[in-house]
Amino acid sequence: MTTVTPDSTDTRRPSPRPPQQVTPPENLRPLLLQHFGFETFRPYQEAVCQAVTSGQDVLLVMPTGAGKSLCYQLPGLARAGTTLVISPLIALMEDQVSKLCNLGLAADRIHSGRNRLASRATCVAYLDGQLDYLFVAPERFSVPGFSSMLAKRRPVLIAVDEAHCISQWGHDFRPDYRMLREHLVYLRPVPIVALTATATPTVQDDIATQLELADAKRFIHGFRRDNIAIELVEMPPSARPETALKLLADTANRPAIVYAPTRKKAQELAELFSTRFATDVYHAGIRSQKRDDVQGRFLSGQLDVVVATIAFGMGIDKANVRTVIHMALPGSVEAYYQEIGRAGRDGQPSRAILLHSWADRRTHEFFVTRDYPDVAVIRRTYHALEEQPQTKASLGQKLQLEPDVLDTILEKLWIHGAARIDPQENASRGPDAWEKPYLAQLAHRRSQIEQISRYTQDRGCHMLYLVRHFGDQEDPGTPCGLCDTCDSDSCVVTQTSLPSVTQTRHLSRILFELRRHDGPSAGRLYTQLFGDDLARKDFEVLLGSLCRARLVQEQDASFEKEGRHIAYKRIFLTPDGRDASDDTIKNVPVVIIPTSQKKRSPKRSRGGRSKPVAVSAPSCKQLLDTPVARALVNWRLTEARRRQVPAFRIMTNRTLTAIAISRPRSEDALLALYGVGATLVDRHGKDILQLMQST
Ligand code: ADP
Ligand code: MG
Repeated sequence: MTTVTPDSTDTRRPSPRPPQQVTPPENLRPLLLQHFGFETFRPYQEAVCQAVTSGQDVLLVMPTGAGKSLCYQLPGLARAGTTLVISPLIALMEDQVSKLCNLGLAADRIHSGRNRLASRATCVAYLDGQLDYLFVAPERFSVPGFSSMLAKRRPVLIAVDEAHCISQWGHDFRPDYRMLREHLVYLRPVPIVALTATATPTVQDDIATQLELADAKRFIHGFRRDNIAIELVEMPPSARPETALKLLADTANRPAIVYAPTRKKAQELAELFSTRFATDVYHAGIRSQKRDDVQGRFLSGQLDVVVATIAFGMGIDKANVRTVIHMALPGSVEAYYQEIGRAGRDGQPSRAILLHSWADRRTHEFFVTRDYPDVAVIRRTYHALEEQPQTKASLGQKLQLEPDVLDTILEKLWIHGAARIDPQENASRGPDAWEKPYLAQLAHRRSQIEQISRYTQDRGCHMLYLVRHFGDQEDPGTPCGLCDTCDSDSCVVTQTSLPSVTQTRHLSRILFELRRHDGPSAGRLYTQLFGDDLARKDFEVLLGSLCRARLVQEQDASFEKEGRHIAYKRIFLTPDGRDASDDTIKNVPVVIIPTSQKKRSPKRSRGGRSKPVAVSAPSCKQLLDTPVARALVNWRLTEARRRQVPAFRIMTNRTLTAIAISRPRSEDALLALYGVGATLVDRHGKDILQLMQST
């Protein structure tokens, strides 16, 4: 992928295009070959391209790598005009633009990594009708006059890529995307195609609402992967590195991507693995140049293993990844599916292994509590806002809130339109309609954690579970035959043993009870049979073992309580279970759950998060008191004005104070500070370091 420096002046001047002719939707194949060099469509592409070419609004949900881009690129050409593409990541945009230019098409882009001159030239080319594709970042629309400039010469098609970013239910919500609707209105009735790889039915509905695509034709396809063997393994965190190391030792399991829950963990694991295999690490705290380098070496086969956080992946197109290992429970089923989907793009057998335990869930819950302040505190803050803008410092004093917490709260209010925040960060009151969407968002985040936990507890086919989760329209609904439920013999991590005498007795009791009374819920079965005699966890292991041995099976059931839909599982005997002899029961393989390998160190930080150089929360007064801090505040204000965002979107007060106190001299030193990520360094690193020198 191409790296752009913030002052990039590079202009890949599009070649002037001859006037084009409109191609009818039924006749797209010649165009496919002529411009893209493809003889045939991939599954579903043709139907989607036809719908888009004919001018219908379309919502397209297909997994990464399925070939969604073609579904706007080809129709755009067929409609003979410019396609406006809204895309959230500079790197993705650059990548797409250079691919299209290499095909001899006229593509250009406008984003914050390009200077004013280059952007202006691009606008001129657009207005001149010289472009087949114009890529823009969503935040560009908040620049005054930008949408009216676009409206002077309407595109023939609008593509919203990574459209899940528009939905607050999506796993990567961007407030900038939320504003799109009001700006795209000016360009309508130009058809819109919204594309994403990750949208549950709820997110699909929200995308449709947000973009006003009520009549859009929906294409939801291709979620089943028939070459990925999924294995879910319960395991304490301390036992996981060793397990991963063993897995990777088998060359058949490499190249591999290992997903770690935090940057620090990623770093540690990469060190461990690099003693044995060519390994490097990738996360958002690493400079973009180094990240590109890691990605490049992985793609070209120089690296065997990349240990990464969720930051790794968008746009990765490496065909022969044999294994994806998750070292902890991911944040949602959507994120998890995206990540395992990077295995086996070449169609060859591959594995996805998830190591998890209940403790992982608690870590996620801890972060939710931190990131979503109590609604009463937000309400208090909201009521402290006035018609007249007031400074954050005075708000902070009035409310006696830590600057960090106040920042989080104001950001939430701002996202929901309840706080107006100018570039100087003076806040005033907006409409009082934030509480419902805020609570809904919080509930959604909680339900994502609930869903991924439920996924790990489910004893059915794991691939089928995922396919259903996304509401795939044409899936046959058959078990995959590969996962640890469908084919327990081919598991590579899960260990089993024959049941002990006590376990055999418990297994017999379960089967005996089911023969008497089939179909109870697991909870009921447990309390009826064991109560305090057996830990619930151990009971679940036994029940799971009976499921894997196909002596019992689970079925989804639900009931309504106080208007809520409550899902649970009922346990039924299979014909084999009904007839199982003592001998059969003695031979049921029982899953062994490894125990913790080392004692918890009392000093371990919660959630294992890496702790960057921290600064104790500064008072707002202190913040404005040193020359460096003042210089930073002024610079931040200029930047905020330029980008038309509140100052905290550039950096929070706490980060600013951390910089002012430690006065970093290099980009690496800057990166080590609280709240500083690679994006900040890439965008503003030079400015900040210069400020440090000159103040
Ligand atoms: P997505 O956006 O769905 O993740 P892309 O649009 O980036 O996927 O496409 C993934 C890859 O598939 C690209 O390298 C693209 O060139 C290729 N591709 C797309 N359509 C076809 C096709 N009809 N025939 C062959 N290759 C295709
Ligand atoms: Mg894509």
